[in-house]
This record gives sequence, structure tokens and C-alpha cells, in this order.
Amino acid sequence: MQNLFPKQPVITLSAGPVAAYPRVLQAMSGPVHYDYDTYFQTFYEAVSRKLARALKTDQIPLILHYEPAVGLEAASASLIGADDVVLNLASGVYGKGFGYWAARTAKAVHEVEVPYNDSITADQVAEALRNRPETTVVSMVHHDTPSGTINSAREIGKVVRDHGALLLIDAVSSFGGMDIHPGDCFADIFVTGPSKCLGGSPGLTTIAVSERAWQHIEANPATPRASVLSLLDWKNAWRKEEGFPYTPSVSEVNGLDAVLDQYLDEGPEKVWQRHALTSSACRAGIKAMGLSLWAAREEIASPTTTAVAVPEGMSDEEILAVTRKRFGVVFSRGRGDTLEKLIRIGHMGPVAEPSYAIIAVTALGGALREMGHKADVAAGVEACMAVIAAQAD
Ligand SMILES: *Cc1c(COP(=O)(O)O)cnc(C)c1O
Repeated sequence: MQNLFPKQPVITLSAGPVAAYPRVLQAMSGPVHYDYDTYFQTFYEAVSRKLARALKTDQIPLILHYEPAVGLEAASASLIGADDVVLNLASGVYGKGFGYWAARTAKAVHEVEVPYNDSITADQVAEALRNRPETTVVSMVHHDTPSGTINSAREIGKVVRDHGALLLIDAVSSFGGMDIHPGDCFADIFVTGPSKCLGGSPGLTTIAVSERAWQHIEANPATPRASVLSLLDWKNAWRKEEGFPYTPSVSEVNGLDAVLDQYLDEGPEKVWQRHALTSSACRAGIKAMGLSLWAAREEIASPTTTAVAVPEGMSDEEILAVTRKRFGVVFSRGRGDTLEKLIRIGHMGPVAEPSYAIIAVTALGGALREMGHKADVAAGVEACMAVIAAQAD
């Protein structure tokens, strides 16, 4: 019988979910324990404490048992009540999308929106807060992945804290790939997960919640209870004496434990460094081939994803089909408003290694050349190599 499945990719350089570390896959094949058994409850508390260490928080973070898109919706529904005025920062598809969730429960939502190749400044946020001083919650995406651009979370966080509003940050595709933690940016709710820079699988959300945010949630009469969108249901679930509102995803928790070990054992600084080096080598190669970065300025280009503008008159879908067919390399397309405009090269988890920058440049340049576009692949590879060689260790 004919095999109906396409050939599997040789190398996945997507913007998430990403190839998981072998150690994580191994852990996920471990025993599925009964969640109310003392072993699992002790393990769950230990994983939760390890997560607090990785996130550098004193409050034990929540583990929610679905992927981060749902976790963000839960955070919005739990935190934002009928008295809240929300300032939503939209520099991309995820930022814009969060505003729709916020609008379901908020009294009002106002926005700072910039073109999706740009990022939002602390001054713009300060001005928006001056115009609407009644703002109680600010929401932002640190790395808006469909654009591959970074908002300056630290500076914006300072402005929000000085104003006194609560700050909700989506750090799903930045945490673990660069130096960002809830405390660095005054985040009251900091949402991330194992399936991007940490190199795990896409089945969990992890959320750090500040004491101020818990007070706000507990004072919100409409905060969901006995619901998949409830943060409060899970507040104390990390305690081994406590038990769970419903069955946690046992194998995913096994994977999260391994993801955190991988990150902490290697050393977070080293992990961030290889994400930074891989992306800067990749950007150098892209530019040297004669292609353009999507980001309006290179300073705002993400260290975990390189977005490349699709050359005039070409189809991203066709380019990606050729990179896959000829080289077995898979990249990501844009999403929503960035669809068809850019190609995303992921540098997350196990593929945040400089050698993958060379592969990305070669596969993309090779495909473009095959399609009749002038791309100087040799210059791209040389530029990549020069960045890698210049890295002092
Ligand atoms: C991946 C991602 C999410 C989560 O999306 P899922 O569909 O749950 O994987 C949320 N925000 C950002 C910025 C992301 O990159």
C-alpha cells in the first residue's frame, strides 16, 4: 500500500512547537503515576518548586494542564473583572489577540498599537497611562512570535509599576531563551510554557502570579471557579497535601521536570548565550545573502526567532515547500496579519545552536536560488561563520 504520509522533516527550525530535547522525550515515557498517590504529589510539589527557581520567584508558580494559548485566556478571565480598565499593548498578532480576551470581562480596553514590524516604547505606555489614569491592568507580549520582535519588558514594567497598575506579560516564546523573569519586569502575571525556548512539548502552561495579582483575582467576583479558566482553583495545588481540581497531565509534568533540569543544569546564562549567538549568526547570514529582516530595526529582532521578509513577488508557501523538499528543513510561516509577508526561522531549545544558523541560511538561500531569486548563499554562510568565529569563550 502506498504510504500516505509525507516524509518527516530532517530538521525542524520552527517558531514552536519545537524539537524537544532527548532527555525530555525520555522523561515523558516514564511511568504514569496516580495523581493522588503520595509519590506523584511529592513529585508535583518538587517540580513546582523547581519552576519557581527557574522563574526566580518566591511565590510558587502554577502549572496548568493545557498549552499557553488557553493559559493566557485563563489568566485574562481570572484577573480582569468588570471594574478593570485595561491598557493592551499590540505590536503583533498575539498582542492584538489578547485585547479580545480582555474585552470579554473588562469595563474598557484601550490600546497602544504599532505596525507589526515595530515595538512599543516605555514612553508610549507612559503617555497612554497619563491619558487614561484609571487604567488598572496592562497586558503585553514580550516576544510577539508571528513578528519575531521584542518589546522592552523591563522599561515598560517600570512605567506600569510606577503607575500602580497590574502587569500581565506573555513571555511564552522568550522565557528560557533570553534573560527575562517576572521580577525583572515587575510582572504580576507572567505566562510561559515548556514548548518554545525550553525545548519541551506543547501541553502545559506555567504562570507566575504575584501576591498583588492574587489579591486582585480573589477580589474579582466574576473570577472563574470550578472552570478550566480558573487560576484560583490551582492556587494551592502544588502543595503535596492539597490535591488537584482535576487530573493533571502526568506525562507532561514528567516532561516539565526534565525541561527544567536541562535548563538549570546547563546554566541559564549559557542557554541564553547560545540563543543570542545563533540568532545573530542567522541575521548576519540573511543580510549577507541580500535578504531583508522583517523587524524595522535589528535591535528589536528576537534572539529566539528570526523573521525574514518574503522577497517581492515570491510566495512564502512555495519557498517553504522547496526548503522542505530539497533540504528537509522546516521553517514557520507568519500568522494572521504577518501571514505571507515573512518566513520565521526558530532558534529555540535544542536548535539554538550556531550550526543550525548555517543550515537555516543554506536551506533558505538554496531554495530561493532554485526558484530563480538571486541569493548569495556563499556570502551568507561566510557572514554566519564570521559571527560564530568572533564569539569568545
Ligand atoms: C506559542 C505562543 C503562545 C501559545 O500558543 P499555543 O498555541 O498555546 O502554543 C502564546 N503567545 C506567544 C507569544 C507564543 O509564541
